[in-house]
Amino acid sequence: MTTLWRPELLSGESSSPGLLRNFVDGGFVETGTTFPKLGPVTGAHLFDVCEADEATVDAAVTAARTALNGPWGRMSEQERAAVLRDVADELERRFDDLVAAEVGDTGKSISQARTLDIPRGAANFRAFADFATTTPTESYTTVLPDGRRALNYAVRKPAGVVAIIVPWNLPLLLLTWKVAPALACGNAVVVKPSEETPASATVLAEAMAAAGVPPGVFNLVHGFGPASAGEFLTRHDGVDAITFTGESATGTAIAKAAADGVKAVSFELGGKNAGVVFADANLDAAIEGSVRSTFTNGGQVCLCTERLYVERPVYEEFCERLALRADALTFGWPSEESTVNMPLISRQHRDKVLGYYDLARTEGATVLAGGGVPSFGDARDNGCYVQPTVVTGLPPDARTTTEEIFGPICHVAPFDTEDEAFAQANNSPYGLAATVWTRDVGRAHRAGTALDVGLVWVNTWFLRDLRTPFGGTKLSGLGREGGTHSLDFYSELTNVCVELS
Ligand code: NAD
Repeated sequence: MTTLWRPELLSGESSSPGLLRNFVDGGFVETGTTFPKLGPVTGAHLFDVCEADEATVDAAVTAARTALNGPWGRMSEQERAAVLRDVADELERRFDDLVAAEVGDTGKSISQARTLDIPRGAANFRAFADFATTTPTESYTTVLPDGRRALNYAVRKPAGVVAIIVPWNLPLLLLTWKVAPALACGNAVVVKPSEETPASATVLAEAMAAAGVPPGVFNLVHGFGPASAGEFLTRHDGVDAITFTGESATGTAIAKAAADGVKAVSFELGGKNAGVVFADANLDAAIEGSVRSTFTNGGQVCLCTERLYVERPVYEEFCERLALRADALTFGWPSEESTVNMPLISRQHRDKVLGYYDLARTEGATVLAGGGVPSFGDARDNGCYVQPTVVTGLPPDARTTTEEIFGPICHVAPFDTEDEAFAQANNSPYGLAATVWTRDVGRAHRAGTALDVGLVWVNTWFLRDLRTPFGGTKLSGLGREGGTHSLDFYSELTNVCVELS
């Protein structure tokens, strides 16, 4: 089925690096230049990755255009949905391979990969096969003043060749969240995974071929952003739309590249998410929920909490218990079921996060838990681990409490009133998600309108229904994904007006 699988990937180690190639017009292609992918668990050299040059990106875009003009572009929604369901089946056949790819590239625990990341790949294809075949377009009977009538309706057509660029934190989940609706709407795609996580996209390419997706409909190019595959793709004249998930600053650069060709853009960007804990909350649930929302995936989920506001009567107890839980989270090899903590994605990112740990101290923080690097006494000391960290005592304008860190750290501050809590939560240039812990039903609903974010969770975190709108306000993004919102981005709607007299 595939040559990617090597058992040592599950521990993040490597005996000999594999070669990952680009996938263009239905076949794997090598390029002259490769870059190494190092695993974050031990620093092992896992893969050599073929970097797509400008000619390879051009070939991928051309193949996508040709596919769009071929049988794929003429298929009905039902026929395309059947192909998407076959892709889901093929992903499930490659389940173990995908787990190994994701664990090797990111160092996340095998249990998280098995329960969250990898199942969502197939689920995304099945969900958008359903949405695309059950979502009606609008139609109206229009009556003119003279009594004549017209039938107005909308026809959904593909947006065209779509460039898909994704980050490294939830590689397969985020990639398929875009590929599935794009294909369901009849587009052809060129995807660029993060240079840090090239492996699972390679397995996805194999699944596409095995499911009978026509050549050129799905193309994969590897490489970096500026002056590499990412920029070649976003500047390419043959691309009609760009969907991007990543840092806000990268979103700005891509928006500028897209402006020249007036390409449609959809952005899911960074966050500095707040959790608000009221004294009336179930405190056990609020603490466990805050542990999850802060430390899941090493704090490397755009939805993770980095700021917690806790009502003063329960503030001391909350801080003490949260710090104890942070200290108790298990470090283990990713292959061990009990492992919770994972490394950061790279040495570079680890240095950035450790820089914020130091900055927090310089800014006057009290460190209640963590604040440094764990010591293993084995090969993991060459990896990218940091300790889960809880800090308090910083002012609202400190860099630690305003800038996205994207690591396992949160700052906890007290508040006295509901208005003050929501104002503090909104005091951010970002607006992705917020979590509220309360037993007061009215307050829960008030939070939904008071908080200037795209997602508000009450007494839970990261609970997703794939039909609902997903996206952020302010620096956190542009547009919404999910259900019909995705269908709208990946389609052009044509209004047909037929005079009936
Ligand atoms: P990043 O912006 O550095 O890179 C993301 C992708 O963009 C990579 O594939 C990269 O190669 C590419 N890229 C970089 N510069 C580019 C350019 N100039 N032109 C074209 N492509 C370019 O982000 P990252 O470090 O990989 O991921 C972490 C960030 O992603 C965090 O800010 C996090 O909040 C955000 N994120 C957001 C969501 C969301 O849904 N809002 C989800 C996950 C991650």
